[in-house]
Amino acid sequence: MQAIWRNEWVHEYETPWSIFEKLSFANRVSRDDIFKLSGNSIERNKINPKKGDRKIDLFSLRSFDESILEMIFGLNLVKFTQQSIQSLTKPLHSNRFPNTSWFSKHLRWCNQCISYGHHSWLHQFKLLEHCPFHKVKLEDNCARCKKNIPFVFSNRFFGNAFSCKCGFEFADFSSTLWENWDTKFKIVDSATLHWLSLSNTNQEDGRILILPEFGNLNILSVFHPYIAKKSFTKDNNKISIDDFYYSTQFNKELYYNNVDTFQTVDRHIRKNVLWKHSNCIKQFWQLLKNDGEDFPDICPYAYAYVNWRKTLLKTERFYRSDIRINDVARSGGRFGYELLTRAITDDIKLLLEEYVLKNNGEKINKDTLEWIQEHWTYRFSLMFFYECLKYSGDILVNDKKNTNWDKILMDTKANFKIAFKYQEVNVMSAKRINLMMYYENTIDTKIVEHHCPNHSLRKKRAISKMKSYVPARISIEYPKNYELINYVSSYIKKHDY
Ligand SMILES: [Zn+2]
Ligand SMILES: [Zn+2]
Ligand SMILES: [Zn+2]
Ligand SMILES: [Zn+2]
Repeated sequence: MQAIWRNEWVHEYETPWSIFEKLSFANRVSRDDIFKLSGNSIERNKINPKKGDRKIDLFSLRSFDESILEMIFGLNLVKFTQQSIQSLTKPLHSNRFPNTSWFSKHLRWCNQCISYGHHSWLHQFKLLEHCPFHKVKLEDNCARCKKNIPFVFSNRFFGNAFSCKCGFEFADFSSTLWENWDTKFKIVDSATLHWLSLSNTNQEDGRILILPEFGNLNILSVFHPYIAKKSFTKDNNKISIDDFYYSTQFNKELYYNNVDTFQTVDRHIRKNVLWKHSNCIKQFWQLLKNDGEDFPDICPYAYAYVNWRKTLLKTERFYRSDIRINDVARSGGRFGYELLTRAITDDIKLLLEEYVLKNNGEKINKDTLEWIQEHWTYRFSLMFFYECLKYSGDILVNDKKNTNWDKILMDTKANFKIAFKYQEVNVMSAKRINLMMYYENTIDTKIVEHHCPNHSLRKKRAISKMKSYVPARISIEYPKNYELINYVSSYIKKHDY
């Protein structure tokens, strides 16, 4: 095939997706035609009843014939792609995560780049939220159908060249054709430039410890200061990878450590933000009300606090039968890895595993694991509380309880950026590990002022005289009062999720 193609249409770090889209547009051929021509024989001969449903991997390009691609593009596209992926992930030295896990599985693009036919692996790179060429936020939903578009070579999700299946065009080349496809853009984002310089040298300011979903290049760049730093003796308190998975002693310690961290955050919030609302919390938490009256208005501060706690700890109910008994169980960790803050247990586990695995079987100081746990839990719990507080007034008024708190949790996670670096240093012939923590909250947290219904002293005092209507108590004290029992259970249903 004599295809229309120019070398200048391929840019550094360009993905095969936009390369194929350009080929399709310039030659007026469909994706099927491209695949019929350049797919390898095994893939082409696969019995596939719905050929249009093929989803071809753009990371490995293993369904294509390498030499045919080279003939078309005058470039070994397979190797070119591998090199881009490798050079962007090289500074990570990850053991736990394959290279592909650092890239989004759905298409993310820059509107400005795409209007020049350009799509880059830097746009797919999870550690970037903005286009490094234009500093604009990356798109990841189709403007028309509002869907995520899987990052694969497929007719199932894409229509004509450079358009979504729904018909929406990412770019319109009907009048300019390929006139501006050879335009080159400079990377202007300094964090990206720093990152790329890391992958070109072997000089590093410490090993990076980060998760794909919780990091960004910004906090890893030299321009971002660390938030906390601590030095550990390398040979103290050593544990092995097996201890991490199987030692009851270690898992109990890590659990207690997490309980202490949670209580530190809890005290901080109650002392600094909720100090005027301890009666409000008591009222909502213990289902307090006056005899013969409805439940009083809920204070938005109390509402945020109680739901924050329930969502973070994944407790069964929002209300508490007895506030004097501590609801924080200290008995965790006996059956393996477990944390009190259950909503973030898996995230922290992934990072600790990555850290342990990076040490190539060497034992590590367990205090370093606890330090990482403390910082993740403290920062995340605090940020999540402020997000709950931001929306609690709205949720109370609009009565949109379903999945609200879980959605806030997911959004908080999406904007929570944390990374660690560690360095081995020799101090007076003793080996030490320096750990550094970097953190950024990518949503703006302005503290919202709510109106508290118990603002006046009279209202606050009234709460102390109220009685608790938790189900366990009323079923004993008013066993026949079905009206009351129903009223309480529908109140609980309304506020539980
Ligand atoms: Zn751009
Ligand atoms: Zn669409
Ligand atoms: Zn504090
Ligand atoms: Zn209040």
